[in-house]
Parts: sequence; C-alpha cells; structure tokens
Amino acid sequence: MIKVGINGYGTIGRRVADAVRQQKDMSVVGVVKTKPDYIATNASRTFKIFADTSENVRKFNEAGIECEGDVQSLLENVDIMVDATPEGMGEKNIEMYRKFRVKAIFQGGEKSSIGQASFNAYSNFTESWGKDYVRVVSCNTTGLARTVSAIERAFGVMRVEATLIRRATDPNDSKKGPINAVEPSLKFPSHHGPDLKTVLRIPEVDTVAIKVPTTLMHVHTVNVRTEKDVSQDDLNGIFRPYRRIIEVSGKSGIVSTAQVMDLAREMGRKRGDLFEIAVWKESMYASGNNIRYIQAVNQESDVVPENVDAIRAMMQVSDMEKSTEETDRAMNIEGRM
Ligand code: NAD
Repeated sequence: MIKVGINGYGTIGRRVADAVRQQKDMSVVGVVKTKPDYIATNASRTFKIFADTSENVRKFNEAGIECEGDVQSLLENVDIMVDATPEGMGEKNIEMYRKFRVKAIFQGGEKSSIGQASFNAYSNFTESWGKDYVRVVSCNTTGLARTVSAIERAFGVMRVEATLIRRATDPNDSKKGPINAVEPSLKFPSHHGPDLKTVLRIPEVDTVAIKVPTTLMHVHTVNVRTEKDVSQDDLNGIFRPYRRIIEVSGKSGIVSTAQVMDLAREMGRKRGDLFEIAVWKESMYASGNNIRYIQAVNQESDVVPENVDAIRAMMQVSDMEKSTEETDRAMNIEGRM
C-alpha cells in the first residue's frame, strides 16, 4: 500500500485526496490544512488533518477539529506527498521533502524546472518512472496533451496552434476576475505552448490565451498540422480508445460549457467534476494534413487522475495501460457519457 500525504487541500488537493482514497493500492495518511475552516471540518470526517506549522496545530484543536500534528509529522509517515499548495509554494516546500526523503508531485502552477520530469499519462508516463520529483502539467496543458497525443499516435504532429479561452477563476472564489471584461494574455505564445512541449515532443506549438468571465471551464480551439494526410473518415472515432476524452454533440443538446458541466452532474460525479476532456463531435474536421476541433476542459478536475498515475509511475508500480485502467475504473471514467 502506497502511503500518500496531501499538502494543500484546496481545489486540486481535495479532489486528489478523494481519488487516491478510491484506489486499492494507495491510501491517504493525512491532509495538510492551514486554517480550521469549513473545508477542514468537512475533511476531518474522512481524513486525518495535519496543520501547516506546529503553531497552527493548536488552532485546529481549539476549533474542535482533531489535528494529528504538523506537516513534518505527516512527512515522517508517507512515501509520497502530493503538493497542491498555491502556485510558487512548491518551490519552497521541495527542501522539506528532500530533508524527509519523501517523493513529491507538484502541480502545473510550478515552474517546469521544479521536478525531474513533467507528467501527462497519455503523453509521457515512462519519463516519470522511479523519479523523486515530478510536476503534473496544468489543467490547460493536460487538456491539450490528451487530445494532441492521441493525434500524434495516429498521424504524427508537426505543428499545434491553439486558442485557449480561459475561465476567470474557480467557482469557490469570489476575489479574482475579470467579471465584466475579456482579458487577452499579451505574451505570445502564452506559457501553455512551451508547457505542452515538456510532455510532448512536438516541433512547433503556438498558443494564445484569453480570459473570460466564467468559472465553469476552459474552451480550446485547436488546429493541428499532421505528418500524414487525414480524411474525415480517418478522424471519426480517433478519440474513442481514450477513456479520458469524450465526444459530446450539439445534437444531443450540449451546445456550451453549461451543458457539459450539467452532464457531469447528471453522471453523478462528486462536486460535479468532469475528469474527461470533452471534444465537440461537430467541430472535428480534417482536410489535407490539417485537423481542427474544439474542446472543453474542467480546470478543477482533469488533472486529478493524472496525479494518481504519476504516483504509480514514480513508485514504479505499473505501466501506463495498467495504471490508467485502474485509476479510471476506481473513478468511474469510462470514456462515454
Ligand atoms: P487553491 O488555492 O484552491 O488551494 C491551495 C490550498 O493550499 C488552499 O487550501 C490553501 O489554504 C492551502 N495552502 C496555502 N498555504 C499552504 C501551506 N503553507 N501549506 C499547506 N497548504 C497551504 O489552489 P488550487 O487551485 O488547488 O491550485 C493548486 C496548484 O494546482 C497550483 O499550482 C495551481 O496552479 C494548480 N492547478 C490549479 C488548477 C485550477 O484550475 N484550480 C488546475 C490545475 C492545476
């Protein structure tokens, strides 16, 4: 049984904690919280709570939340830590993990240089095999990596051009924006292009990112120049072998991210999560050596199964096929609606 700790129990951390708990070969030893808030109260019903500092242990106990100790006492009892603290904090935490000789997974908000590899299960599972420090790429990059790697395997990829229409913030946040503006990133390419290249060896990747006032999902319009010519028939069903990509259709009423997320709720997922990347069937178009499609990415949850697979790769437990199969079975990811 792999003993896992979760440092940072926010949007990503709490979902990874639940996903790890669902697996047969790993368990959550505890989760690290900074404050005894409503999330800590709820988490304490399922997980052992640890405070970020020894001074904060008292605050939890005073608030009536049993606290087992500080982050260092958790580190003494785990094989691997999933660091889901706010972006940039992993850079500081890595010293602590080194000191305790604990492996660690970082998230997409960290620089790619933090780990010995960046990770996406479909793209480069084996590059994290046995590694001590690995970064799971961001929600947007995970979305691109999933679908582009499927195309790469079938036809070869020379160039990716994508426009990323990004959600402004997550649904549980009331501080960030924009709330009434469209905000283009003025950096070209946006950081997602170079980030995709950390997990997929594509010669050219060009991305543009634009933030819009929504909290539900990101939407990507993707153009891929392939090595071989591709017909519309070749393209049909290209994503079907991949459980973490689902095809959705306007004909069935899914015409926006509102219905995509409604679908996730209908699927009975906890928190209404959609771990899969949703590609609109009608948008899939092939001509010569160009493929075009539109996909939607639930930023809060697509990276969650990737964290589970990264644990298995780093602990050298099973190969990509076996790990993704186990993760997906436990999380009810079936590749269909
Ligand atoms: P979040 O703010 O929702 O959660 C971070 C949690 O860490 C919070 O609960 C915060 O209280 C806690 N924390 C702060 N300081 C801490 C400390 N010293 N020790 C322990 N916990 C501490 O952030 P998030 O959205 O879950 O993002 C975490 C990472 O995942 C970032 O690198 C981010 O870029 C990445 N990521 C976020 C998303 C997303 O859309 N939310 C998607 C993919 C990847």
